[in-house]
Amino acid sequence: MADKQKHAPEVLKDAQSRLEDIYERLDVSDDARHRLAFPHRLAQFSIPVRMDNGSLRVFQGWRVQYDVTRGPAKGGIRFHPGVNADEVTALSFWMAIKCAAVDLPYGGGKGGVQCNPKELSRMELERLSRGYMREVYDIVGPDIDIPAPDVNTNSTVMGWMADEYSLIARCQCPGVITGKPVGLGGSQGRVEATGEGALQVLNIWAQRNDKTPKNMTVAVQGFGNAGYHFARAAAREGYKVVAVSDSKGAVYAKEGLDVEAVYQHKNETRELKGIIYCEDSVGDEEVGKRIDNADLLALDVDVLALAALENAITDENARAVKAQVILEIANGPVTAAADDILEEQQITILPDVLANTGGVIVSYFEWIQNRTGDYWKAEKVGQRMQERISEQADLIFALAEEQKVSPRTATYMQGIKRITEAMDHRGSQR
Ligand code: GLU
Repeated sequence: MADKQKHAPEVLKDAQSRLEDIYERLDVSDDARHRLAFPHRLAQFSIPVRMDNGSLRVFQGWRVQYDVTRGPAKGGIRFHPGVNADEVTALSFWMAIKCAAVDLPYGGGKGGVQCNPKELSRMELERLSRGYMREVYDIVGPDIDIPAPDVNTNSTVMGWMADEYSLIARCQCPGVITGKPVGLGGSQGRVEATGEGALQVLNIWAQRNDKTPKNMTVAVQGFGNAGYHFARAAAREGYKVVAVSDSKGAVYAKEGLDVEAVYQHKNETRELKGIIYCEDSVGDEEVGKRIDNADLLALDVDVLALAALENAITDENARAVKAQVILEIANGPVTAAADDILEEQQITILPDVLANTGGVIVSYFEWIQNRTGDYWKAEKVGQRMQERISEQADLIFALAEEQKVSPRTATYMQGIKRITEAMDHRGSQR
């Protein structure tokens, strides 16, 4: 936590530092550069919440709409003690890049509340979620800004927020938010989408580089929704998932972990540490051995999947990485300075703005379903997500090869090109 606070003020600067090179390569106009230098809108507010014991607590919240050139702002809401304006702004900037990179008709947005959801009761969490929606009611909507889940928020939270919006608006308006429970207009396949989309990006890269899943070992940092679904799908496809971690500890097994067993234990004990320490039927021998989180990042594996928070790999630990490829499932897990070091070590990075787009792609499908009233089966959602992500990943990898740039640079080029083209079409008089 202290570590995160230390890095947090740099997140936006770090995110934007990658732009200069892209602007030069694409010959972007000064007008567009100026417009992309600042967020379109940044709202900061206080959310008073009546706690179960009768006391009042006031939480700080944000919603940032970085760019809305190509469509309504789109992006999740995160609940975390380290959330601040800088972080939310950087995350909204990445949303703009990623939505454009996979050609969704959206701009970029993000929201957050500074809180520790693990310390809140279910009722307190519901009051906080509803309070958040009351604060952003005027600046969100199906054609304005469409929130979704992010770190520590899920379909239940989205359901409360959607309900609050509908209560205030006095109408059924499911298209205002995505990632809702399926029974409340959510899409099939949304929960698995980020992890499964990331696996598809890895598969496409592997195919293009003549690698087969069967021979590849994977370590996964972060075992929340995205990390778990990625690990599960990767193991199913034959990758050997040798290590996973959460914020409190990591577990390693040379011959591969039983991902479901690890998940079950995490669910029961609420942390991976429980698995490693427990002396009961599932002890060290059966699940894996305990390693430090820092050791997981330095494992000699083929794929290091980063599915926790930003700034996991910085210039301080980049040299220790031995993986051949880094799959960024979280947003911003590698700093710009670390990028350079990893490139020197010839480590390929499959960047967040491409690798984690499965979530927002299925959010887009949910929004379409809400607006047409035509609900799709899970197979159709999965198939269309795979098609979209494969098609866009192929374009990006081809661009990277043709221009001799990293996949991150190619993804940014693709995104920025689409955004600035849309800016041109909208005219210069505004
Ligand atoms: N929070 C996710 C992301 O960072 C999903 C956003 C969405 O579905 O709008 O991509």
